[in-house]
Amino acid sequence: MTIRLLEILSRGPILGDGAMGTQLMLRGLRPGSCGELWNVERPEAVRDIHALYAEAGCDVATTNTFGATRVALSRHGLGDRVGELCRAAVQRAREGAPTCLVAGDIGPLGTFLEPLGDVPFEEAKAAFAEQAAALESAGADLILVETMTDGEELRAAVEAAAGATGLPVCATFAFDSGPEFRTMMGLGVEQALRIAVEAGAVAVGANCGANLTLEDYARLGEQIARLFPGVPKILQPNAGAPRTEEGRLVYDASPEAMARLAARLKELGFAWIGGCCGTTPDHLAAMRSSV
Ligand SMILES: [Zn+2]
Repeated sequence: MTIRLLEILSRGPILGDGAMGTQLMLRGLRPGSCGELWNVERPEAVRDIHALYAEAGCDVATTNTFGATRVALSRHGLGDRVGELCRAAVQRAREGAPTCLVAGDIGPLGTFLEPLGDVPFEEAKAAFAEQAAALESAGADLILVETMTDGEELRAAVEAAAGATGLPVCATFAFDSGPEFRTMMGLGVEQALRIAVEAGAVAVGANCGANLTLEDYARLGEQIARLFPGVPKILQPNAGAPRTEEGRLVYDASPEAMARLAARLKELGFAWIGGCCGTTPDHLAAMRSSV
């Protein structure tokens, strides 16, 4: 599958999908509750979201498993349901988007690794390996490690997924803007992507980011595009920088503005262009016309 994925990525950009969390909340998921549980308790909602992205023209269906490690699920008392929730997630993606590549999604643990926090590196690795193996056995086509800010955590996830499965592993960091782009944990762009490449990711880049405008994503894209020639690059931006409205984050970028950004990323040679927080099937449908 690694060779097939690299072949697909070399033919020109594929269109990722857009936000899952934003869509679940639109359908009533409460902030702070476990979105992955909807893979079994509200299967039609998760399936419909995948179907809407597939109808928008997306090439990838990213599973609703962002927080489906044992470590993250334990905060909801669901630590023993990794296999069940990952299996259900892949099924929902296949049902809703039968012609798409299914990317088994792996997000951060939501806590810090030692020495900053209390999760030993090996425990993190074991949790990521368990999730990746469950996604593979359910039939995912690839693993997408995303929204990482800590290099060691990303390394744990990529090495675990590459070791526990035969699937290609892609990896993206979340950068914030400032005098220069850095992750929340202080990694610069080149430093971060080097960790991903050396850990064994076959395609690397960025997604999300706390405060980036669409102009920032274009500049970040220019930096990423210059690094590690020959390694396919991924960028899945938010729908612009969010503002807070009644305690909720609201993303305002229009589908047309996202389509212009996608066209720029295509020019820069990105192999996988999609959306993150705040992006909707409308955004992705507009981006399809540029990708
Ligand atoms: Zn995001």
